[in-house]
Amino acid sequence: MAKWNGERHAFQAEVSKLLDLMAKSLYRDKEIFLRELISNASDACDKLRYAAITKPELLGDDAALAVTIKPDSTGSVLVVADNGIGMSREELIDNLGTIARSGTEAFVKQMAESQGGDGQDEQEQPDGLASGLIGQFGVGFYSSFMVAKRVEVVTRRADEADGWRWRSDGTGSYSIAPEADAARGTRIELHLRKDARDFLEPLRIRTVVKAYSDHIGLPIWLENDSGQKEMVNEGSALWSRPKSDIDEAQYREFYHHIAHMPGDPWHTIHLHAEGRIEYMALLFVPDSPPFDLFDPIRRHRVRLYVRRVFITDECEGLVPPYLRFMRGVVDSSDLALNVSRETLQHDPILAKIRNGLVKRVLSELEKRAKKTPDDYASFWENFGAVLKEGLYEDAEHKDRLLPLVRFRSTGGGDRWLSLDEYVDAMPEQQEAIYYISGEDPDALRRSPQVEGFRARGIDVLLMADPVDQFWLPAVGTYKEKTFLSVTQGAADLEKFAVSEEDKPDEADVPPPGEMDKLIALVKLTLADTVKDVRTSERLTDSPVCLVADDGDLDMHLERLLRQHKHEMPEQKRVLEINPSHDLTRALARMVGQKGASEALEDAAHLLMDQALILEGEPVPDPSAFTKRLSGLVSRALAE
Ligand code: ADP
Ligand code: MG
Repeated sequence: MAKWNGERHAFQAEVSKLLDLMAKSLYRDKEIFLRELISNASDACDKLRYAAITKPELLGDDAALAVTIKPDSTGSVLVVADNGIGMSREELIDNLGTIARSGTEAFVKQMAESQGGDGQDEQEQPDGLASGLIGQFGVGFYSSFMVAKRVEVVTRRADEADGWRWRSDGTGSYSIAPEADAARGTRIELHLRKDARDFLEPLRIRTVVKAYSDHIGLPIWLENDSGQKEMVNEGSALWSRPKSDIDEAQYREFYHHIAHMPGDPWHTIHLHAEGRIEYMALLFVPDSPPFDLFDPIRRHRVRLYVRRVFITDECEGLVPPYLRFMRGVVDSSDLALNVSRETLQHDPILAKIRNGLVKRVLSELEKRAKKTPDDYASFWENFGAVLKEGLYEDAEHKDRLLPLVRFRSTGGGDRWLSLDEYVDAMPEQQEAIYYISGEDPDALRRSPQVEGFRARGIDVLLMADPVDQFWLPAVGTYKEKTFLSVTQGAADLEKFAVSEEDKPDEADVPPPGEMDKLIALVKLTLADTVKDVRTSERLTDSPVCLVADDGDLDMHLERLLRQHKHEMPEQKRVLEINPSHDLTRALARMVGQKGASEALEDAAHLLMDQALILEGEPVPDPSAFTKRLSGLVSRALAE
């Protein structure tokens, strides 16, 4: 070989980390390098096929797109080649020197953590998590370095005349030089390490291709020294084959190929829609949430094909944002092949496909919810907060979504309740669906506002996802029952009987009128800070709480808006007083016997401060609070 005088480039730091991990991989993981290289080759052919729709000349006389695997006669080099789109010099630098793909960074971090730092050799590496991660996650081109001590990439872009050779030994840097007579597409030459030479054996290659890449929709050839070729995969796209021909393992492998996610599919949907519009879809619900589920862009990752030709994986409008956890492929026979990616979104056929997909996904979720509720609960924990976005974004399917929603409740422990279960268990006199919203379900369970409901055996749903603040006002009712926040308006609990143990002690009731006097005094003292002061059935253990008046902004929503820096006028709340609490009874008696006093005014402020603390709100004047509290306590101790 001529003297190598390529131009030297350093790998991005993350790439070096990834390469490090690759070099340390376990033997049983190594074979996935072939899956990754075939996957890239297939993507490259997809891209060329798409470009050739408008520029057929790109295909030239080499139109049979395929992947070729060739063990080289030297006994140490394995070649994986494609006649796809190829790479320009800039693309080589961008694609094979940096990590662009979202998720890789998270993967590297997870890997590094599960390996417990660096410096471990292969024997010491813990079996399990790290190796499982490598096997399941799409680790891309860099996985070549699991098996190769040196990798050379010869490539020429379909629309360029000049080719390039990229070369690296996987330690810190790579170099690039021009390559004369490079064929269109990309040819990866793996200079195998001694312990990986078994990948030159045809049987080994056949087995690995069958296991990981059988679903690829173009031929994968295994070529021997004398130029004889044999096709080692099925050669048709998995989604286009009849369901009965596909087993669980093949679906799983395709999921890993398409979803780039660790884990297995939680649910698989494979359908051929026929009739007014025709399409095929192979869709998956993952078994764990992807790391970017709550990115503001809310992008879905379902790929769109038109008659087996890959069009885009960014087709807005193919899947609604509230189903963005879905992964997979949709292949339409009705969309025009030369459809532009830009106008696609407004194509009426696309809207019909979306509608068909949504209906199918919802009906599959309904089935799972009914047949395997525990399983459905795990889906709900992963994606419930996303699905709920549909309640206000998709009016057409709102009524099918509502029964799929699950809630925790004050009485339900860790159980996830459906609205139907909640409504069925409601006491006869209960007319509304009660809920409380906040950030943390456990804190919500301890809220003073739910005490009176609990004492009366009324379950309260916990709304702890930010999205709840959006769909609740949009949905309003379920089966003619209104959703009512227990932190808003009057509680109206008189009609429900209190359980014996929660009954207030009747022996100690202050004379009639005294509680009213206390209320009047507190109202007067707190005039500027509260909207109203009243007694409440809502409380059993706590002396006070705050609620929003009917029609006012919900307190949790107010906090959320403030966190997001929304300007808004100060919201005055209603202070509710528990007339059965020892403290308020003692205060009422004091008002009755001695009339207003400084001590009582202090007590009024302290009631308000307590209510704020219970809400998790700051006390407006901590030093006044401390002074009043120590004053009252020392007076009480002195008596
Ligand atoms: P991913 O495939 O997830 O993007 P990879 O590490 O496998 O990540 O590949 C990085 C990029 O390198 C690809 O997105 C593609 O742009 C480019 N690439 C890799 N292999 C090929 C190939 N055979 N032909 C053309 N481009 C390729
Ligand atoms: Mg790849």
